[in-house]
Amino acid sequence: MTNLQDKVALVTGATRGIGKSISTELAKCGAQVIGTATSEAGADAITKDLTQYNGSGIVLDITNRDACRVAVDHINRENGGPHILVNNAGVTRDALMLQMKDSDWDYALDVNLTSTFYLCRLVLRNMIKKRWGRIINITSIVGSSGNVGQTNYAASKAGVTGMSKALAKEVGRRNITVNCVAPGFIKTDMTDILDEEQKKGLLNQIPLGHLGCPIDVANAVVFLSGLESNYITGTTLHVNGGISM
Ligand code: NAP
Repeated sequence: MTNLQDKVALVTGATRGIGKSISTELAKCGAQVIGTATSEAGADAITKDLTQYNGSGIVLDITNRDACRVAVDHINRENGGPHILVNNAGVTRDALMLQMKDSDWDYALDVNLTSTFYLCRLVLRNMIKKRWGRIINITSIVGSSGNVGQTNYAASKAGVTGMSKALAKEVGRRNITVNCVAPGFIKTDMTDILDEEQKKGLLNQIPLGHLGCPIDVANAVVFLSGLESNYITGTTLHVNGGISM
């Protein structure tokens, strides 16, 4: 089993779906996990879920730069800084381009791409000092394949992929790895909104014949967080049941 004793992990969007599973699996490996939620109730639920592992929830809207800085400063002071950052929080604001509002474009880019940049930059100084760090950004199959109604989401995820490759080159010499995990279609609130027809269409494209589970993505994140992936950086691990792009 991957050993993450003595590591502190910051996981954004840990209330549900993929982020919740990532937090639990990292905690089971011994990491001290700090998971973020956008509400007090969400943060309390994370703390309750992670109590047995010494993890906790905090309130953080990742689009609020001051709040991100304060949160990372606090983790640096109290916990010795995140050794592992998982940028998982993400949103969709779907619409065909002709109908897409500026606010839909801006919000998807802000949450999915700009906040990822901002949090990566905030944790880097401490990782460089420690000469050890793991950054794992959750992207999407849609960033590679595109998808009708998701020009904003696809652009944001493709942007994170490019940013991660560039950052991996910048910080590799400091023993910091930067990788992406690109889920395909995973059973969460994000895919629950698809109608039966859309789900049937998806299943036809998936060689393994079923949607993925959050833990399938979490397992990939655990691998990229541990010593087992020491020599892997600047890459994307696709977790999509075999869909070819
Ligand atoms: P989800 O169930 O919709 O959960 C989204 C998470 O993001 C929640 O924890 C939410 O927090 C958090 N969040 C949203 N806006 C935020 C903000 N402004 N600041 C901080 N946190 C915010 O999503 P999911 O399906 O687990 O997806 C997780 C990641 O995987 C996303 O990056 C998504 O793009 C990616 N992904 C998912 C799929 C899929 O099939 N599900 C496929 C490809 C990629 P609250 O609960 O507090 O609102």
